[in-house]
Amino acid sequence: MIEIKNLEKTYPSKSGDVVALKDINLTVEDGDIYGIIGLSGAGKSTLVRCINLLEKPTSGQILIDGEDLTKVTKNRLLEIRKKVSMIFQHFNLLQQRSVLKNVELAGEIAGDKNPTERAKELLKLVGLEDRLNYYPSQLSGGQQQRVAIARALMSDPKILLCDEATSALDPETTHSILELLKTLNKKLGLTIVIISHQMSVIESICNKVAIIDKSQIVSCGYLKDVFLSPTNEVAKKLIYSGHVNTGIKGEKFVKLMFTGEVDKPIVANVISELKISVSIMYAETKVINDTVCGQVIFRLPSYNEDIKKLTDYLTRENVPFEEVDSDALY
Ligand code: ADP
Ligand code: MG
Repeated sequence: MIEIKNLEKTYPSKSGDVVALKDINLTVEDGDIYGIIGLSGAGKSTLVRCINLLEKPTSGQILIDGEDLTKVTKNRLLEIRKKVSMIFQHFNLLQQRSVLKNVELAGEIAGDKNPTERAKELLKLVGLEDRLNYYPSQLSGGQQQRVAIARALMSDPKILLCDEATSALDPETTHSILELLKTLNKKLGLTIVIISHQMSVIESICNKVAIIDKSQIVSCGYLKDVFLSPTNEVAKKLIYSGHVNTGIKGEKFVKLMFTGEVDKPIVANVISELKISVSIMYAETKVINDTVCGQVIFRLPSYNEDIKKLTDYLTRENVPFEEVDSDALY
């Protein structure tokens, strides 16, 4: 559905060009909830704005259903943009208009002469059927974002781009908005690209993720794979986020990965059957796309003696593992 090929974006400035995106290649398929995560200034907003050509790429291609947006006519671009809606961190509602009027206006702009019924229907879908005549200032942040979502749906989009859409919301409201997005993905078959600097947001909703660091994608794929085997420094920072006791520099550890297939008390058995008194340096389980995934990082008291015993056992029990360096956890 969305193919980004060799995308580059440079902002000219007096003190030298700012490279915001470098050699970006990414494919989002129909029905994906694709997360793009990175630290502040990494280039996330620029990337998402390039997807609907709000920002013109310096070079490269943006293909939506095979059509290259950098090559189409202006009119065609406006047509395609209806299929690619967007929501933002600060909702961007019109303060002088009621909830219903805010949503209706989007319909009018998309060419709908009688937008009222559809606006009401969508406001019901986002749970605001009893707030039609309220003004934005009378609503909570979560409710305002729901209005923005209804508004974004007025043009009947196939893709919804969300730029830090929950970053101004408290954790509970964030959760409810993410649940709503999940429902829209299922019910309407909406493809969603969700930009965030928070791993927790990505984890709770996305099936795939790309990690962007200093203008480049450093890791991408199914969330489960990226989460269980972060290969790059920023990925590790975002995933382990300071929770790992990193031990002595250069020390070796063993990482066990669980993806829901093994149904035995592996850690307990390592201790009681193999008689290895491991120390746990890091342990976490998460539910990713309805599967419990986890990883445990062990320190072995006598690494060289115990490692073979342990890895033989893990192989026998079909538990994926990796030997990792403590440096790998920073
Ligand atoms: P993020 O959303 O990940 O925080 P942005 O995409 O906003 O990052 O910014 C990426 C880089 O591009 C930053 O260095 C930022 O300063 C720069 N940048 C973004 N927009 C502009 C602009 N309109 N003009 C000049 N530089 C910009
Ligand atoms: Mg941003």
